[in-house]
Amino acid sequence: MKSVLPLLEKTDFPPLRRASLDTLQVNIGYRCNLSCSHCHVGSSPSRTEMMTDDNFDLIAEVLEKRPFKTLDLTGGAPEIHEGFKDLVRAATERGVHVIDRCNLTILLEPGQEDTAQFLADHKVEVVASLPCYSLDNVDAQRGDGVFEGSIEALKRLNALGYGQAGSDLVLNLVYNPQGASLPPEQGALEADYKRELREHFGIEFDQLFTITNMPIKRFGSMLRATEQFDAYMDLLKSNHSAANLPHVMCRSQVSVDWQGYLYDCDFNQMLELPMASQEFSEGRPHLRDLLTSDAVGQPIVVADHCYGCTAGSGSSCGGALESH
Ligand code: SF4
Ligand code: SF4
Repeated sequence: MKSVLPLLEKTDFPPLRRASLDTLQVNIGYRCNLSCSHCHVGSSPSRTEMMTDDNFDLIAEVLEKRPFKTLDLTGGAPEIHEGFKDLVRAATERGVHVIDRCNLTILLEPGQEDTAQFLADHKVEVVASLPCYSLDNVDAQRGDGVFEGSIEALKRLNALGYGQAGSDLVLNLVYNPQGASLPPEQGALEADYKRELREHFGIEFDQLFTITNMPIKRFGSMLRATEQFDAYMDLLKSNHSAANLPHVMCRSQVSVDWQGYLYDCDFNQMLELPMASQEFSEGRPHLRDLLTSDAVGQPIVVADHCYGCTAGSGSSCGGALESH
C-alpha cells in the first residue's frame, strides 16, 4: 500500500499544543477477525503485531503516575489479545474508566464466550462500530454476515444491561460514511439509528458517534486509486471550522502503538508520525517517557489529514466535536 504521507505533510493546518492528559489511547495489536474496506489500521486476521507484557506493565505504571481518566483500548480487535482482561483489571483497579473499541462480531468468536460478561462486570464502556443500520451497507463495508453478527452481539450486550435506560453500562455506536463524503448531522442520524434498531431488532444504545473518514491507510489508497484524493482533501479543507480546533482529541490525549511508542493521535500513529521528542531525553518518545514527563504544553505534529478532525461538525473518537 503506497503511503499517502508525502501528500499530507506540506500543510497550512494551524499549530496546536497539548492542553491536558485525559485519555491514554492504546492500540494493543493489529490482529482483527475482520478486514474492513475503510480500516485505517489495515487490520486483518493475518496481522501478527501484538503488544508485549513489558508494555502492559508500563501502561499500569503510567496510569498510576499520570492523571489519565480514561484508558481507550483499540486495535485490531483488542479483545483478541490474551492480555486484554488483565489490562482492563489493572486500569479499573486504579479507578481509570476503560473504553473497549469493539467490532461486535468478535464477541461471537470461539474463545470469546465470556467477554461480554467480563466487560459488564468491569463497567467497560463499549464503543462499537456499526456503519449503518441496514444489512446491505454494513456487509458491503465490513464483509458478508457482519451485520447479522453485529445485531446478535448488540442483543447480547443489551441483555447484560448495556445501553438500557437507568443502567450505568454504556454502549455507544460509531458511524462513518461509506465513501468520500462528510458524515451527516450526528443528532439526526442518532435519532434514525435509535428508531430503526429499536423497531426492527429491539436494540437500545446510548449515543451515536459520527466519524469522518481519514484520507490515510486503506481509505486513502482507495481515494488515490479512484482519483478522488484531491477532491476529498478539498472537501475537508473547504469545510474547516476553526471553532473545532480547541476540541480536537490530540489536545487531551496520548496515543500509544503496539510497541509502546507515542503519538499525538491514532491517525498520526497510522501515518507513522511520532510525537515531538523535545520534552523527552532522546530517541523516539515511548510509554516509559511518560513516567518522567507529562507532554503537556508540547506542540502537536499536524499535517493535512488534520482537516478531517475540523471539517464540518468536527470529528474525534468520541464523534462530532460541535456537541462538546
Ligand atoms: S473491525 Fe475495526 S480494526 Fe477490524 S478491520 Fe474493521 S475497522 Fe479495522
Ligand atoms: S489528526 Fe490527530 S493531530 Fe491532527 S487534529 Fe486530528 S487528532 Fe489532532
